[in-house]
Amino acid sequence: MSKPIIALVGRPNVGKSTLFNRLTRSRDAIVADYPGLTRDRQYGTGRVGSQPYIVVDTGGLSGETEGVDPLMAGQVRAALDEADAVLFLVDGRQGILPADEVIANYVRLFDKPVHVLVNKAEGYDHDLAKSEFFQLGMGEPLAISSAHGDNVEKAINDVLAEIPEKEHEDEFELDDHPGVRVAVIGRPNVGKSTLINRMIGEERVVAFDMPGTTRDSIFVPFERDGEPYTLIDTAGVRRRKNIKEKIEKFSIVKAMEAMDQSHVVILVIDGSEGLTDQDLTLLGLAIESGRGLVLAVNKWDNLTSYQREQVKNELERRLQFAEYAKQHLISALHGSGVGDLFKTVQMVYKAAFKKVSTSDLNRVLEQAVHEHQPPLVAGRRVKLRYAHLGGLNPPRVIVHGNQVDKLSESYTRYLVGVFRKAFKWVGTPITIEYKANE
Ligand code: GDP
Ligand code: GDP
Repeated sequence: MSKPIIALVGRPNVGKSTLFNRLTRSRDAIVADYPGLTRDRQYGTGRVGSQPYIVVDTGGLSGETEGVDPLMAGQVRAALDEADAVLFLVDGRQGILPADEVIANYVRLFDKPVHVLVNKAEGYDHDLAKSEFFQLGMGEPLAISSAHGDNVEKAINDVLAEIPEKEHEDEFELDDHPGVRVAVIGRPNVGKSTLINRMIGEERVVAFDMPGTTRDSIFVPFERDGEPYTLIDTAGVRRRKNIKEKIEKFSIVKAMEAMDQSHVVILVIDGSEGLTDQDLTLLGLAIESGRGLVLAVNKWDNLTSYQREQVKNELERRLQFAEYAKQHLISALHGSGVGDLFKTVQMVYKAAFKKVSTSDLNRVLEQAVHEHQPPLVAGRRVKLRYAHLGGLNPPRVIVHGNQVDKLSESYTRYLVGVFRKAFKWVGTPITIEYKANE
């Protein structure tokens, strides 16, 4: 159930980000593009066939041996620790370099399946390109071209085939967890643990821990105002012997898995620090996860009224791409705003799972097209003929028509806005997929 994690390693310029983009290229769906959204270039999801996976680009490993072991840099190490398998990229045009050997030795320490990919091999004899890389001692290399796509699917299939099925996999199903599954995510120290304790509050007595399917998250069922919930605890609150003991390491992969398994995500931001890059990374991943989203701007008690105005302005200015997500100004410490947060979680959950009839969908589509026609392309008008609902959480609208590949992002955004308003799809991303029938 949890997705295999594949780490990309290699020297700078061997083509890791090119491969990353290819492996995470946004599905087949045309998702409304959110202007201003910074797509994270380090973490992404992709799939081959029905098999999803997570890719982590570790950035460039210099492979230098001078100075404090630069390879031990925390980020890379953490990524390799979490990975189920490693794709080790080398440059077929440059041939093997000492730095490649250094990286090979480092990667070996982690005892994970490793596949050597000899990149930039387009137009080259594959056998020749890969021959010298046998000496890395990591099995038979595969010649690929990240830029052109040659052998990229084979590389991913090979690596997936080697990853053992995850433990716990069939111990229980996600659906065994009652009620709304809520993931509380955020960078360290924003107040996740404090909020979680607030949320489960007096219910702690009846809460009991279940092992999570994720590497570290724990599922905590609880009730509030008669509604059942399951909290997906990425902060490890429930596992700590006492609150002082900070054993949790922050992990973006863990947050991604928690989001995947949730219905609604609460992203906690520390209002007293404003928006940081890591908040924006998590926000981007939350949007891509497709789940319902609520923003909890915490530590509001800690701010002067002047600072409050500043923070509100900053959020308004920088979060336009996430304007569908409600913002709650809260104090987890004192409990203010937490009740309203629950109301929004319920509302978003209902919206994300709301079934809309095909006839209503078509009525709204027709009206939208009538009010704002799709463009003419080479003298022919793009026609949108009918729509149906293809999925929930997030709502997926499949729109059939002709020349649909000619539609602009801005037209898709327009449709998303119309649907959102008509069906009160609040707090959830909306996906529109076009199908050409000509
Ligand atoms: P990174 O530093 O490892 O992330 O490498 P990049 O993905 O940024 O690629 C470095 C350079 O190699 C860029 O100029 C890419 O266009 C080029 N490149 C990447 N993949 C290929 C490939 O398959 N073939 C060729 N010829 N060039 C490539
Ligand atoms: P986590 O790492 O995200 O789980 O964050 P914690 O819940 O451990 O909180 C980090 C620190 O922020 C702790 O010292 C908390 O007491 C403090 N904190 C959390 N929520 C609030 C809040 O609403 N207001 C104030 N002033 N401090 C808070």
